[in-house]
Amino acid sequence: MNSSSKETHSKSDEIWHLSQQLGISIWKNLLSLPESDDNHTPALINLERSIQFTFVVQSAERDGLKAQIFVSEKTNLISLCKYLPFLFKRYQIFLCADNLIQQRILAFSHDEMLQEDNQAKKNLSYLLEKAAQDNASDIHIESLSGTKQVRMRIDGKLKKVSLPEQIDERLFIKIKLHSRMDIAQKRAPQDGHFPFISSYGKHFDLRVSTVPGINGEKIVLRLLPATSVQFSMEEMGFSSRHIAIIKKCIRVKTGMILFTGPTGSGKTTSLYSILKELQSEALNILTIEDPVEYRLNGITQVEVNNLAGISFASALRSFLRQDPDVILVGEIRDTETAQIAARAAQTGHLVLSTLHSNNVFEAIHRLKNLGVKGDDIATSLKLLVSQRLVPRSCNCNMSPDCQLCSGKGVSGRIPILETLQISPVIKKMLSYEEALSDIEKISFSEGFVSMRDFGTKLVAENTISAIELDSICPAG
Ligand SMILES: [Zn+2]
Repeated sequence: MNSSSKETHSKSDEIWHLSQQLGISIWKNLLSLPESDDNHTPALINLERSIQFTFVVQSAERDGLKAQIFVSEKTNLISLCKYLPFLFKRYQIFLCADNLIQQRILAFSHDEMLQEDNQAKKNLSYLLEKAAQDNASDIHIESLSGTKQVRMRIDGKLKKVSLPEQIDERLFIKIKLHSRMDIAQKRAPQDGHFPFISSYGKHFDLRVSTVPGINGEKIVLRLLPATSVQFSMEEMGFSSRHIAIIKKCIRVKTGMILFTGPTGSGKTTSLYSILKELQSEALNILTIEDPVEYRLNGITQVEVNNLAGISFASALRSFLRQDPDVILVGEIRDTETAQIAARAAQTGHLVLSTLHSNNVFEAIHRLKNLGVKGDDIATSLKLLVSQRLVPRSCNCNMSPDCQLCSGKGVSGRIPILETLQISPVIKKMLSYEEALSDIEKISFSEGFVSMRDFGTKLVAENTISAIELDSICPAG
């Protein structure tokens, strides 16, 4: 970075000397494009990048042609200035930083796309509006051999979507431009994001990622509500029994609470409903996430950034020097994070996190695999929750006029939980590293209700269907 600023500096010096020598009038704001450079079209900027300078003839005046010369850091000024006096009698030189030129190209092509590319524009706004309206969590745009298709994840399941206009490469370019990605790069994965406000005024932050497939690129847009968290545990559909257990565990602000379940099972949303419950002026709440999915005022949210050296573990270590009360770690997936999180929980902090495992007992196994000793699990762990989201049955008998489900028979999803509170007996068993099967037996005798058993109760109440329950947690 140093050498380039030095280069720019010496280039400015060079220009200054030449201006003295040749009597050139030079644009005062070096390294910035003039404000009214309407003539400076994308084609010219491109030219400047490839042949390293360009000039625009502004007007033919009485005393000869007047021209504006645009040069970048790459321009060979000496050779350019050798010829200038012969070509034009009056000229101004504008020195443009390379990244400024790039920004201008992007801005120009952006505007052009917006004005000219109606097809891609129509498709994209249709897609985003539809996704917002149908509460889709993700949009998948994929290249198949000879064709492209769009699917949306609604209530956890991917569904094909047909668009008003034919989908082609321009839709990909448009999304990449919005996300500030390199539109020419198709062979390497890219990440980006852009905001979107639906016609109903719903705000979203769209996380965009691309991967190069053998038939072309695939783009996934994740729709994250950019509004602050609105939901409480009650609004999310947690049962009163589970709410009581969670609230009891967060009352004393120490120990570790872990949510487990596969991706898309609503773990982060649940953790945020807990944060919302905890949020108060009296508490210092910090989060480290990858990425930050919800905005919550009054707490400090940090995003994992590998380039800047911010990992779950490094952020966690910094948090401990920030006088924290509550720490949310997006996910525990490595030994270092697991061990620091356990230590934080042992030393008087409430730690909330997620873990990949199928049920609460597997979570204990997973923690051990991650290198947390039985004794440390015993002294840090307070509550394990395993969660799935299941489509909620609508009691309209699939009437096509139903406002909730329009005849589909399901509307929205309801969380199904199993919770394992670490009782004094289980705590002792954990520290003695007793077999998980024995811990499981004891927990049932202490009143543990498995996800399957809880789901079966919901089936009996007609809240969910037996088929849906079987598909997320099979019997036995
Ligand atoms: Zn209905």
